[in-house]
Amino acid sequence: MTTAHITSESSSTHRGQFESRPLLVFWEMTKACGLACQHCRACAQLEPGPDELSTAEGFALIDGLAEIGRPRPILILTGGDCLQRDDIVEIARYAQSRLVPVAISPSVTSKLTSTLLDELRMCGVHSASLSLDGSNAVTHDTLRGIPGHYDATLDAIKLLKQHGYTTQINTTVMSSNLHELADIAVTMHDYGVDVWEVFFLISIGRGSEVLESSALENEDVCNFLVDASRYGFTVRTVEAPFFRRVAAQRKLQLDQETTFEHGALYDELHDRLIEKLGKPTAPVRAPSAATRDGKGIIFVATNGDIYPSGFMPYRLGNIREQKLIDVYRENPVLLAIRAATFEEPCGSCEFAQLCGGSRARAYAQSGNPLGADPGCLLVARARAL
Ligand code: SF4
Repeated sequence: MTTAHITSESSSTHRGQFESRPLLVFWEMTKACGLACQHCRACAQLEPGPDELSTAEGFALIDGLAEIGRPRPILILTGGDCLQRDDIVEIARYAQSRLVPVAISPSVTSKLTSTLLDELRMCGVHSASLSLDGSNAVTHDTLRGIPGHYDATLDAIKLLKQHGYTTQINTTVMSSNLHELADIAVTMHDYGVDVWEVFFLISIGRGSEVLESSALENEDVCNFLVDASRYGFTVRTVEAPFFRRVAAQRKLQLDQETTFEHGALYDELHDRLIEKLGKPTAPVRAPSAATRDGKGIIFVATNGDIYPSGFMPYRLGNIREQKLIDVYRENPVLLAIRAATFEEPCGSCEFAQLCGGSRARAYAQSGNPLGADPGCLLVARARAL
């Protein structure tokens, strides 16, 4: 079987999927957060903004998702810190009454209590994600700006598991923590985390002050992540859909027991992982749902503004004036994103449907939401010709 065969199968499987409904709707409930992370997308602040959606407007957003029918999108309550909203339980309970599945993405602060987690579980919240950006307190606490936050995060993972949540850990890859990724993967394994979601930094928000990894490093990290996904937890990426291209290529290579091109960073991470966890025995757990910003994913900001994702400040409308689902289905840029009509080399890439590149990174670097993703090695190489 050729690589082209795998991708054409995946393309036909996923072409048309997500045309009529998103899989994930992110609602940035508030900008308020007790942390001030160096790479914060939302430029979170201590106090809520003046124009945040009210509880009633949140209910209306949920009504809109309920009306889409089955399968209803998953509503992810994020921020800032979603636990800073006094109405979070009310919102979750209302979503439960409308059969809209809810996940939360809280910050680790004193607001993340056993009592609140219990209440939210009773309202049907099944999944929660926390951020961990280093393999040790020095790296993580420096990025988060709070001494002791690393240990508090590890305790919070245990708490989520005790309360029966599907636990996802988000790690942002940047040049300062690249060499710690294998040890972070060990933490995922040791703490029984269900999903490791790895964010590839986009230079927006406070993230513009932190260094993005290079395309070459990204390729090595993606190859390493394929390996990491063989230790019992699922690995997904954010703003690196080319991980699906790498995973498809690696699957072929694993099946055929052939080698693949990689750099020193991959060797280092791979060797460290084996040193700590031994050789992997489980199959690769890297989902192939072909989502990207605006395809399967949509983001509602604190004031109701609609964006293709939280990392892509390309405003599409506002839920105070339009129905979210109408914007999702009809906006011409989203239609083009879903049709994979991208600038070269993404446009003619055999992985355009399965991957399509990070729209947020293309937009951040070129101003074109349909541009090529410079974070992908194929793009970097094509541009170097
Ligand atoms: S060239 Fe573009 S579509 Fe192809 S793998 Fe890279 S980012 Fe994805």
